[in-house]
Amino acid sequence: MKHELFEFLTTDLQFVKGVGPVLATRFDNVLGGRRVLDFMLHTPVYIRAREVSENVAAAEPGDVITIPLLVKSHRAGGVFRGRRRPTQIICNDKMGNSVVIQFFNVNFLDYWLKKLPVGEWRMVSGKLEHGARPTINHPDFIEEMQNADKIPSVQAIYPAGEGLTQKTFANVRDQIFNMLPDKLNGEPEPNVREFFDALRHVHYPETADDLSPNSPYIVKLAYWELLAHQSAIVISRRNRTDVRNHRTVRPQKYDLMRKFYATLPFDLTGAQTRTLREIFNDMARDVPMMRLVQGDVGSGKTIVALAAAVKMAESGAQTALLAPTDTLAQQHYAKIKPMCDKMGIICDVLTGRDKGVARREKLVSLRSGRTKIVVGTHALFSDDVEYKDLGLVIVDEQHRFGVSQREALRAKGRNPDLLALSATPIPRTLSMTIYGDMDVSIINEKPAGRLPIITTKLPIARVNELITRLKIQIDSGAKVFWVCPLVTESEASDLTAVNARFEELKKAFPHAGLVHGQMDKKQRDAVMAKFADDNSDMKILVATTVIEVGIDVPRATIIVIENAERFGLAALHQLRGRVGRGNQQSYCILLYGRNISEDGLKRLDVLTETDDGFAIAEQDLIMRGTGELLGTRQSGWINYHFVDYARHRDLFKLAASAARDMVDVDAWTRDLLFIFDRGVVISA
Ligand code: ADP
Ligand code: MG
Repeated sequence: MKHELFEFLTTDLQFVKGVGPVLATRFDNVLGGRRVLDFMLHTPVYIRAREVSENVAAAEPGDVITIPLLVKSHRAGGVFRGRRRPTQIICNDKMGNSVVIQFFNVNFLDYWLKKLPVGEWRMVSGKLEHGARPTINHPDFIEEMQNADKIPSVQAIYPAGEGLTQKTFANVRDQIFNMLPDKLNGEPEPNVREFFDALRHVHYPETADDLSPNSPYIVKLAYWELLAHQSAIVISRRNRTDVRNHRTVRPQKYDLMRKFYATLPFDLTGAQTRTLREIFNDMARDVPMMRLVQGDVGSGKTIVALAAAVKMAESGAQTALLAPTDTLAQQHYAKIKPMCDKMGIICDVLTGRDKGVARREKLVSLRSGRTKIVVGTHALFSDDVEYKDLGLVIVDEQHRFGVSQREALRAKGRNPDLLALSATPIPRTLSMTIYGDMDVSIINEKPAGRLPIITTKLPIARVNELITRLKIQIDSGAKVFWVCPLVTESEASDLTAVNARFEELKKAFPHAGLVHGQMDKKQRDAVMAKFADDNSDMKILVATTVIEVGIDVPRATIIVIENAERFGLAALHQLRGRVGRGNQQSYCILLYGRNISEDGLKRLDVLTETDDGFAIAEQDLIMRGTGELLGTRQSGWINYHFVDYARHRDLFKLAASAARDMVDVDAWTRDLLFIFDRGVVISA
């Protein structure tokens, strides 16, 4: 790959026209990276046809319609007798049917009203809502009639991020792909040109087929993605067995370990004990450990990881525990610190929040080897962080990190042990191909006394009944998560729905809290902290999926998931894991919408019938439809961009055998390793 192209692909998105630092950060949250390349690998999931219709009566609630409307009048919103009312624009379609456009507490109301002057026709496109009258909340497009063609007749829909609209995605895509030909000019590697050509086709789909797993472009990209992964595994395995990388085994002592067992407030489960034995065996070998511990949420992976860290500390070396978010890092630290204090092990936390003198002191302590266990985020492998003797790297929620991040941290030590933790179960049938370079331990047993979460499904029509029942539960001390989806398109209307639900619930629960991804982080953390606080009045928290990873509220025993049919099974299972963390009976209520399909209901049944993550993963593999569902990508077993487990099985075999036969790592393979973030492996 030409250097010029490489530079372009690694450019920070904030330098793309129309983006800037704020949007770049939002992209980072969604893409897991903020380079041009990260954007390019994030491709549309489906297309939205926006052909023009003239008669609103011919459309169904839930449809996205594009329709010419004559603006009749404006009705300002505001608070009336304690009730918030949206701003309404009353319109007629060509047949004389009334259509209402609604805006809820928006910042630029004047702007919108000017776009919809009384007495004029406008082309409006958006989702038709249920209601007494046909209603469109926060239209996606409003154009003057002579500009109606600005509304794309086929729109590529990207998996959304909070705070990012489809228009932003389309704009950034256009910027990037307009610059690309220039960067590819003179590129010597034909595969590179072919790769980006395929990528362009996927970003500009013309029909639904263009995005199906069987489309020739997607098949091609999926094969290359698998080839990158399988090559990385082969290289990693070859490195590991290379005698030049072997090490002297550290001294084995047991005093601290005895103390550790003595301070544990409970007995380890059989599965935890077995996993620990496997880990200790690895640590006593002359090849570095590469072990993945899989176990459902709440199966007790943290204690196992801590035991490994204590063992490492006893041999005099250090452990770094990498977590995906600040909140998770702090949570781990809060749990681990008291135990370390009892054993006399110095433990610390290091995140992006640490600045100035305090941070410098932490770094000194790490460099001197005094700090034995450090918990943190990516700050753990910043350039200026040095370890005296980093013996063990633990990666929590490992699917949220690229191989290069994991290896960047490992590079801070001399071929240290690696322990990866994952709460997303991988079907056994796939685990060899996916984690071929790692040994796997499975914690398939919950701590004693845990009651299975009782899961039920309920149609949205019965929501009032549910609220009444919640009141009773809350009065007797329960805390409740209420999760609403914020999905791919029409984010504004989803956000409206979340706000509306919040207002609704506030009538029954005046102290209800609300968190969503568009709030700034501090505000969000403050609300979450209040909800977690046993002494606060906030007993119910309305949230978008920002709570998926992180927050640990043992008193929370009920989770309601609204529009559950819009989530993937893996995501639902993860969400459900937010409750059932204490010894009390917990409940999960899957509220489903009017438009749920028969298959959708069947999928929800999987969750009501089992809470075994592995069984759910197998079902997910079989039943998974399109990539449309929320969270199927983020909560996948590994962050594949193009590979579909069920439909690309043959490609797995092809790629694995091509990688096995690889003699030297050629230029194209290197490019692939870089593109799919599997690059650092080579130098390991
Ligand atoms: P995971 O990381 O696998 O989701 P954690 O390690 O956070 O789970 O454990 C969940 C909770 O269960 C923690 O509060 C932990 O202290 C507790 N726990 C872990 N192992 C046991 C055990 N063997 N017996 C009782 N409680 C346990
Ligand atoms: Mg955990």
